[in-house]
Amino acid sequence: MSLQGTYDPQNIFAQIIRGDAPCYTLYEDEDVLAFLDLFPQSYGHSLVIPKRSAARNILDVDPEALCKVMRVVQRLTAVLVEELQPDGVQVAQFNGAPAGQTVFHLHMHIVPRYSGQGLAIHAAQKGDPLELEKLQARLLQRLNG
Ligand code: AMP
Repeated sequence: MSLQGTYDPQNIFAQIIRGDAPCYTLYEDEDVLAFLDLFPQSYGHSLVIPKRSAARNILDVDPEALCKVMRVVQRLTAVLVEELQPDGVQVAQFNGAPAGQTVFHLHMHIVPRYSGQGLAIHAAQKGDPLELEKLQARLLQRLNG
């Protein structure tokens, strides 16, 4: 059901884009925003979203906006792999609640995976703010260095 519907401008990612809610920003330009997931499935779990598309999912998004998102996804994936040295990295995107979507603004997950840690797709708890800040600083240094 949630695959169809209208875009809700009050969703949390729309609030983050407007600056009405905080996030641990990793990258931003006029079209794309990347930030740390607040409930990380693994160390380094990041999200990349289009800023100018009121798109709930991959069916709604303008292909050009999607290309801009994917360019950042590829770059940030490389940075996460270089900096965190995971054993694998998952790039994922869910469409509709039955597929696991909980925030209805298109987003790409980048989830570094570490051997022996399992493949949880929804984390039970919020990340520790100090840990998230430290991780943000580390990744920003790698991204901008
Ligand atoms: P999905 O299940 O694909 O809709 O993923 C939504 C993701 O957004 C989940 O991994 C949540 O942990 C994450 N999330 C929800 N609220 C926030 C927030 N305020 N800041 C960062 N990530 C969030």
